[in-house]
Amino acid sequence: TVKTRFAPSPTGFLHVGGARTALYSWLYAQHKSGQFVLRIEDTDLERSTQEAIDAILEGMEWLGLNWDEGPHYQTKRFDRYNQLIDQLMAEDKAYKCFAPKDLLDELREEQMAAGVKPRYDANHPKIIEANTNVAEDAPFVIRFRNPKEGTVVFDDHVRGKIEIANSELDDLIIRRTDGSPTYNFCVVVDDWDMGITQVVRGEDHINNTPRQINIYEALGAPVPEFAHCAMILGDDGAKLSKRHGAVSVMQYRDEGYLPQALLNYLVRLGWSHGDQEIFSLEEMVKLFSLDSISKSASAFNTEKLLWLNNHYIKTADPEYVAEYLQWHLDQKGIDITDGPTITEVIQLVGERCNTLIELAEQSRYFYQEYDAFDAGAAKKHLRPVAKEALELARSKVEAVDEWTTENLHKVIADTCEELELGMGKVGMPLRVAVTGIGQSPSVDAVMKLVGKDRVVSRIGKALA
Ligand code: GLU
Repeated sequence: TVKTRFAPSPTGFLHVGGARTALYSWLYAQHKSGQFVLRIEDTDLERSTQEAIDAILEGMEWLGLNWDEGPHYQTKRFDRYNQLIDQLMAEDKAYKCFAPKDLLDELREEQMAAGVKPRYDANHPKIIEANTNVAEDAPFVIRFRNPKEGTVVFDDHVRGKIEIANSELDDLIIRRTDGSPTYNFCVVVDDWDMGITQVVRGEDHINNTPRQINIYEALGAPVPEFAHCAMILGDDGAKLSKRHGAVSVMQYRDEGYLPQALLNYLVRLGWSHGDQEIFSLEEMVKLFSLDSISKSASAFNTEKLLWLNNHYIKTADPEYVAEYLQWHLDQKGIDITDGPTITEVIQLVGERCNTLIELAEQSRYFYQEYDAFDAGAAKKHLRPVAKEALELARSKVEAVDEWTTENLHKVIADTCEELELGMGKVGMPLRVAVTGIGQSPSVDAVMKLVGKDRVVSRIGKALA
């Protein structure tokens, strides 16, 4: 059965690239009714932090990318890595290397000066010398004995067939001087032990893959399939980074995006199904395949993300939107206990909003009294021009028995007719009176939700 994983290093937030990799792994597992594993690759003790672990888990949870297994932590598996390193040592597939750093640096410089690609050369006389007659307590690393002959071949789901000569690969360090195992070794042991069948990860790891395949083979482990996803670029064509604005997934939460919009955006950023743009989660799961991941880098486009966000604010179940809107209402101190249900407000104003921040702001007047009118709107539409219209409308509003949008529509229409005014001459002053601002959905529908008492008192405020 299919088992995929997301294996972030906890050195920072869950960023857009990581989230996309996680999504693709997750989708593939769902698509195949398989399992999805979360693994925290925290062997780099200097750079890994608990804060980053928490941020990654928070981002995954916010996106709804639930895992079936984990989180596993590599730091809890050192015994297992060491056991297998010892096994490789016993089989002479790994060896101690005492060559000091300054010697390696010196050889590297020599190679560069000679125009050869710098790499560790176990047969260099100086390395051989460094490794003979060493002191008992001399520090050492353990290197994997990479095969010298032949080629490593694998068929990447994204990049196709990849072939690398072993002569290109040097003997990789698998245990550092301090005894800690390195990424390329741990990742192989984990993917093997955890039964991972497809490794989905960023293209930045593609050079590691042939080395890892050699380690799988040395351990007698089955080699999984690989899918290396292309990079994400900023809209200026450079690799996506902090200076392109929001890169942490939680920052998108803060900026008022729905997880569904970000997921839909991310799935299309490097994967396609014809020219379809909108995918429900069910559709993504149904249609996703590793083979249709794009080979070329994709550019991040905030306009499109906003468009998708607006689409989901308008069309998603209002209960779902409400769940994520609540956080923004809390941020703005908007208490929705006294007023219409928030789902009614979402249905009325949602289509006008690109973000949940805008939606929260547009919800305000349903629940809170405004302190002052928007100055421009008041100047244009209220006193003294609209006094008569507002007074008549108020008396009609007070007389409404059944508080429906239709009856409120009639209030406006009748006021226009009696005073021989155009719609705008009555509707606009009412809008400014009821909302405090110059823009809102249809004013009869707004009044319906704001409620009779508030509408009457706010018209009074506009007349005062
Ligand atoms: N821990 C690695 C990273 O964060 C990912 C390794 C992998 O997916 O194989 O880049």
